[in-house]
Amino acid sequence: MTDPQSLEFGDPITAPFWRGASERRLVIQRCADCGHHQFYPRPFCLACQSDRVEWVQASGRGTVYSLTTVRIQISPDFTPPYRVAIVRLEEGPQLLATIVGPPCAIGDPVRAGWKDRPDAPPLIVFQPVTESG
Ligand code: ZN
Repeated sequence: MTDPQSLEFGDPITAPFWRGASERRLVIQRCADCGHHQFYPRPFCLACQSDRVEWVQASGRGTVYSLTTVRIQISPDFTPPYRVAIVRLEEGPQLLATIVGPPCAIGDPVRAGWKDRPDAPPLIVFQPVTESG
């Protein structure tokens, strides 16, 4: 088995995200000129077109923007049924990820977690924030 830590995933634009994932840290881009956060990664800021984009650690907190349950086998990596959501991060960007843990609905708070994979950096998942945390 290949050591996931040794893999350089993605292209020069996305590799920092995967390096963060390898350390189970959610990193997103922030514009050094205007402060805009963005995901997925790009070589420039979507708000002001500056190329001074830097990587920062996101809080990992977000809310469910959209949610569905997948009931057919699309990928060998995911066994149906499973939930897929668009999560709006506290910093503003949205990302697509699976939801694990207890039931949740649109608008519910979620927090980032990681699903280990044998030959790749961990995959980000989100789980509902419950009374017990
Ligand atoms: Zn900007």
